[in-house]
Parts: sequence; structure tokens; C-alpha cells
Amino acid sequence: MGEEAVRRRIQELLAGGLATEVCPRADTPESVQGLIQRLREEAGEDLEARLVLAGFTLNPVLHGGIEQACETCMYYLVHRRWCELPELNLPVEPRWSCRLWRI
Ligand code: SF4
Repeated sequence: MGEEAVRRRIQELLAGGLATEVCPRADTPESVQGLIQRLREEAGEDLEARLVLAGFTLNPVLHGGIEQACETCMYYLVHRRWCELPELNLPVEPRWSCRLWRI
């Protein structure tokens, strides 16, 4: 599947009500490591499992007074609209979000 097709598939899954684990957000190094480990061990290459575990949403999430959106995340590649966190490594949209958001 090409990048655009994967991006559309993610959009469809989320708009279709895929229940993702939006909270708790990964606020501490321990929770980040725990989630990364779960992504590696439980999700692997499974697209839906990655979206669920990472808590993907189609809109930014306001957390601790900060708007968490892919476009402001350190893992976001602006020109490619891509998440380069190795355990995700997915096409995304600037206004999407996940709980691994990091500044
Ligand atoms: S890690 Fe950052 S860029 Fe990747 S999906 Fe989550 S919020 Fe978006």
C-alpha cells in the first residue's frame, strides 16, 4: 500500500470509530518506554494495533494546557507528513494526534 492509501486507511479506521487508547497520555519516561515496548511486542506491523495502542485521534488533544497535534510533535516530518517514531513510522496528518506526542 502506498503512503496516501495508508493515510486514507487510517482516516477511515478512526472516522469509523476504532476505539483507541487516547488516555492516559505518555507523560513520563516510564510511560513512554512502556508504550514503546507494547508497540514493539503487541502491535509490530499491525496497523490497527499501532493506532489503538498509540491512542490515535483525528483531532489534536488538549493535555495539561497544551494542544498535542502531530504538526507540533518532535517526531513529525512536515514535508512528508510523516511520523518518524520508529515504532509507528506512519503517514499522518498535521492535525492528528497520539499519546506519544512529544515536544
Ligand atoms: S508521535 Fe507525534 S507525530 Fe507521531 S503520531 Fe504521535 S503525535 Fe503524531
